Amino acid sequence: MDINGNISDIRQRMNQAAGKSGRNPSEIKLLAVSKTMSSDVVRCAYQAGLRAFAENRVQEWQEKVDHLPEDCEWHLVGRLQTNKVKYLDTRITLIHSLDRISLLEALEHHGTQRQMIWPTLVQVNIARDPHKAGVLEEEVEDFLTEVTRCEHVRVHGLMTIGALGASQEETQGYFRQLRLLKERIQVKTIPHVALKELSMGMSHDFEWAIQEGATIIRVGRQIFGERS
Ligand SMILES: *Cc1c(COP(=O)(O)O)cnc(C)c1O
Repeated sequence: MDINGNISDIRQRMNQAAGKSGRNPSEIKLLAVSKTMSSDVVRCAYQAGLRAFAENRVQEWQEKVDHLPEDCEWHLVGRLQTNKVKYLDTRITLIHSLDRISLLEALEHHGTQRQMIWPTLVQVNIARDPHKAGVLEEEVEDFLTEVTRCEHVRVHGLMTIGALGASQEETQGYFRQLRLLKERIQVKTIPHVALKELSMGMSHDFEWAIQEGATIIRVGRQIFGERS
């Protein structure tokens, strides 16, 4: 597996996609989704220059984090169980999957106990896929109103997952919808909420996401190869 080559490939494609839409590639973060990959493999990506990694299982993150340099950023993607929040700490840079009130309450509870503030993104089910997690578009503003009551949670943006098997046109449509939602909310003053980030785009659709305004792309297989 040529991780170095894969990363320079992705960088090039990121630059091209940014160029197409008149964006500066430096405002787009490549987040390496390292779930199921060993610490040794993640270290290869680190040595190739990556610093931001994402895991989807708290226990796996705990097993990996001590084996990697301290200047790594660790993001969480995917459904976060409320009973796992207690294992998280300040080494978590961003939680991409704030998708329900019970999780918001668990974060607030543990944040209060430990005097720490959780940086999050609200996951939006923009494609309205019944099998997917996420707040529905029309519920996002009410959800953010709940966040204003939580002193230990901050929302820095929105996250979504494109629909599986959707065409380029459909996928870009969903990503555009998320950006427009962010722009509508951005102009309002909501305590604890400052929507800057748009986390969207994975291995198969990150270029389309960049064209629609993604600030963070979450790429796994394109960097590390297929997961076993
Ligand atoms: C696994 C995962 C990714 C990465 O997917 P790839 O297809 O491997 O790029 C991105 N986002 C989320 C939420 C994931 O669970």
